[in-house]
Formats: sequence, C-alpha cells, structure tokens
Amino acid sequence: MYHKVRKDEKYDSMIEYKNGIHISGTNLWLDSRDPQDMCFISHAHIDHLGSHSTIITSRPTAQFYEQRMRRTNTIVLDYNQPYTLEKMEIELFPAGHMLGSAQILIKKDSTRIIYSGDIKLKKGLTAEEIEFKKADILIMEATYGNPKYLFPDRMVVINQLCDEIDEILHAGSVPVLVAYSLGKGQEISKILGDKGYTLVLHNTIFDLLQTYETNGISFLNYEKYTSATMLAEKVVIVPPYVITSNKIKNIQRKKTILLSGWACDTDKIKDPVDRVFPLSDHADFNELLEYVRQVNPKRIYVTHGDPHFVDYLSRIGYEASFLGS
Ligand SMILES: [Zn+2]
Ligand SMILES: [Zn+2]
Repeated sequence: MYHKVRKDEKYDSMIEYKNGIHISGTNLWLDSRDPQDMCFISHAHIDHLGSHSTIITSRPTAQFYEQRMRRTNTIVLDYNQPYTLEKMEIELFPAGHMLGSAQILIKKDSTRIIYSGDIKLKKGLTAEEIEFKKADILIMEATYGNPKYLFPDRMVVINQLCDEIDEILHAGSVPVLVAYSLGKGQEISKILGDKGYTLVLHNTIFDLLQTYETNGISFLNYEKYTSATMLAEKVVIVPPYVITSNKIKNIQRKKTILLSGWACDTDKIKDPVDRVFPLSDHADFNELLEYVRQVNPKRIYVTHGDPHFVDYLSRIGYEASFLGS
C-alpha cells in the first residue's frame, strides 16, 4: 500500500511490532499491552500500559502505574541518566505530553533508536518541556498526523475558553469541562485555578492530581465533587466517561465543553457536548514534522495514529512505514 517506502533490512530487523515494540534479541519491550518480563512505559495513559514483571520508567509514571495498575518491580530512571541494560545503553528524556512522560533513547550495536511515546511540543504548566535528541531509527506516534490537524495558539484558545466560562457563569449556569482524567484534567485545573476560578473536580481527576502535588506541582482553588448543590459560581471538571452518568445529568443549567485536539475534526467527536475547544496534549501535524526534523532519523516507524502520515514523511524524503494496528 505504501509503495514509496524502501525497506532497509538492517533497521527492519532491529525491532518487531506485536501489540507493542520489541527490541530484537533483547528482553526489552516498549509500551507493550501484553504482559512482558521487561517493559519501558512512556507514560501512564491506559493505552500504553500492560501488566509487566519489571517496568522501566520515570518516577511520576511509576507512581501513576501503581495507582492505575498495581505495584511491580520498577527501575526508576531520572531524565538524561544513562543506564546499562543487557548490552544496551538506555536513557529517558522528556516527551512534553504529561507529567512524567518520557521518550527513550536506546544505543544498541552503534545504532541510536528513539521511541517517542506520545509527544507535545507546546510547553504546558504540568508537564516537563519536551527535549530532542538525534537518532538513526525513530519510532513515533502520529495521533494528529494529517494536515487538517493544526492547533491554534495555546494562549488564544485559553483566553477564548475563559471568555466562554465567564459568559456561562454570568448567565447563572454551570460550566462543565470535559477532559481526560490524567494529564488534561490536571493541566486545565492548573490553568484555571491559577487564574482564580473555583474548581470542582470529579474524584478521578482529584485523586490523580494528588500525585502532581507530590511531585511539586501545586494547585489552587479546587475541591472534590460531592453533590450537584455545591456548584454555584464554580467550574466543574469531569472525565469523558461520566458525562452521560446521572451524577452529571442531575446538574441543572449546565453547559458542557470538551477540551480535545479532535475539535479540528468534529466528525470524530462522539461525546454529547455543547462546545469543543482545541486544547490538546499532543503535537499537531506541523509539530510532528518539526519533531522529525529535530531527530533527523534515517528510518521512521509510526506506531499509532494516522497511517497516512508515512506518506507525508516519504514525500519530504524520509523512509517511513506504519507499524501500528
Ligand atoms: Zn498519551
Ligand atoms: Zn497514546
């Protein structure tokens, strides 16, 4: 299907893809969904987690893993701290996607392999700023790997969102923001709390936020959601999976606002919400290309997102193929 791709057998034989990435000839897996002896976890979103004997990850991700999965053998690595594993040297460095999110650089047989996990280039308030390193092989995400996904300036989006919230509050209604329970939920809590809004958080967002506090990120003006009678003049923040629940249905005079990169493509939005704002934890199309230029790899494998992203990469001279399902 991707006729422009020329196979490079040397690189192709170094990795295998099967519900996660395997570094051939080693015990090391990257973001495997199936149980493995040894797995690097890029960040704590559920679609990157499996139940493994030993995990290699950053300190915050190890804490989230324990909250979301279970306690397991953990090799915690600081960013930019080289570590020898079997015959490889590995190193984690920030991915910018959420607190603790990491890319991994693997040096094996004089080849540099980077796996990106999920990345965000725009600096947020609750994630470490992304760093770039050079690699021969780049294994990357392409969630928004299509030119229709170009996110507006972050400050512009935040200002428009605040205007909308002010209008809703002024009309005596309740703004209910819908954001993923880990990452987006805390980022918007930080943004709005710092601006002086009083926040009421769904318990999942509230509980995971405590791990942010443990890691030195402090939040203002927030409390846990207990009943629909406590919401006057406040901003409610909930994860997508509860918006059809009775707890949320019972909120009178509410206006729901989804925060998602999919705002650029409303066909993709299945949640019944009043408004959508394009606030994303991912790189947009141009940022994905900018990221590739920074890494400057000889070979690219795209693991998840838009399979056609490899066509755009081929067009600008990269050898790229799609690995994901
Ligand atoms: Zn993610
Ligand atoms: Zn992901």
